[in-house]
Amino acid sequence: MALIVQKYGGTSVDGPERVKNVARRVVETRRAGHQVVVVVSAPGDTTDRLIAMAKEISPNPPARELDMLLATGEQMSIALLAMAIQDLGEPVISLTGPQVGILTDGVHTKARILEVNCTRLRRELEAGKIVIVAGFQGATPDNEITTLGRGGSDTTAVALAAALKADLCQIYTDVDGVYTADPRVVPEARKLSCISYDEMLELASLGAKVLQARSVEFAKLHKVVLEVRSSFNNNEGTIVKEVQDMEKAMVVTGVAGDRNVARIAIYDVPDRPGIARALFEALAKENINVDMIVQSAMRDGINDIAFTVARDDLAKAVEVTERVKEQIGASAVAYDDKVAKVSIVGAGMITNPGVAAGMFACLAEEGINIHMISTSEIKVSCIIDEEHLTRAMQALHKWFRLDQEA
Ligand code: ASP
Ligand code: MG
Repeated sequence: MALIVQKYGGTSVDGPERVKNVARRVVETRRAGHQVVVVVSAPGDTTDRLIAMAKEISPNPPARELDMLLATGEQMSIALLAMAIQDLGEPVISLTGPQVGILTDGVHTKARILEVNCTRLRRELEAGKIVIVAGFQGATPDNEITTLGRGGSDTTAVALAAALKADLCQIYTDVDGVYTADPRVVPEARKLSCISYDEMLELASLGAKVLQARSVEFAKLHKVVLEVRSSFNNNEGTIVKEVQDMEKAMVVTGVAGDRNVARIAIYDVPDRPGIARALFEALAKENINVDMIVQSAMRDGINDIAFTVARDDLAKAVEVTERVKEQIGASAVAYDDKVAKVSIVGAGMITNPGVAAGMFACLAEEGINIHMISTSEIKVSCIIDEEHLTRAMQALHKWFRLDQEA
């Protein structure tokens, strides 16, 4: 008997037939003799619709109340799934994140899990029940309801798997696994049978939507092996785990594109210690994640600094940057939200010089201008005009021969 955590995403529970389909899969796993904890997301685009409802009431809804609203989406799913499982004759109970004892910090809409209390979960499992847990939510030590950031149900699943020391954490979604690129953008994309945490983390942070980046970080930290697969078929999925054998690592494993990018520039910044700190501390204080940062070469004691943020954070980030501009005596702030980020990822890059050069050559042949570049040991990212993103992804996929079996 194994202890298995299964997570089903929003599309997998969108509508009564799909909920019943998930119920059958869960019951099948239970009847194979396993203990099962199931994490579910809100049905379909419920979370988007809840956010839209809030915005109709107030342009800037208080984060605490937004969490109160958003947490209801997942609560619908757990109740409906528990009813469907009950009908199939298996003992089952649904629990919200706070009922389980998923303890988080107090950063509303982006909370981090501090601790998972397993007492209730274990008690229900030992009583022979299937336990259905609402993803994406928890509560602070003061019992305030929080949510974990978009896509946060993945993190709930990984956190439960880690806390329960589960044998397996399966992430069921609407795609078969992790691909060399989004197949909707690059039709020749191939499914990967296995990928390392680091590569998956990069792909997830770079816009591949199959897993929330934070959940991969969590899985790596707690050595939770993930299996990403579809809830609509029985195809083999992709295993995400620690990959030891770097020799065999592919130079480039995948191509990712992200449209949720905006670029901000601040001009004529004095060249002295404390300037970058003033700017980026102010942004951090507002919980704005800054991604790429470029400081231009100094001329006559002044610099320009450009950086990127998620588009949803743009308005706030511009406001903060304008404020800092006054404090430090910079001349102007500009921004552009018609940009996108295209990236290549691969654990084999560290030992293969010339990969970045290959990427630039490919984009040059396509006539695509690069605005910003950033690199790490296992990825290269370029900011380009958004209108070229699809073409850039397709060209890079071909350039690095990702359509061919390694
Ligand atoms: N329902 C939440 C969202 O749409 C959490 C999740 O799907 O994982 O972001
Ligand atoms: Mg969702």
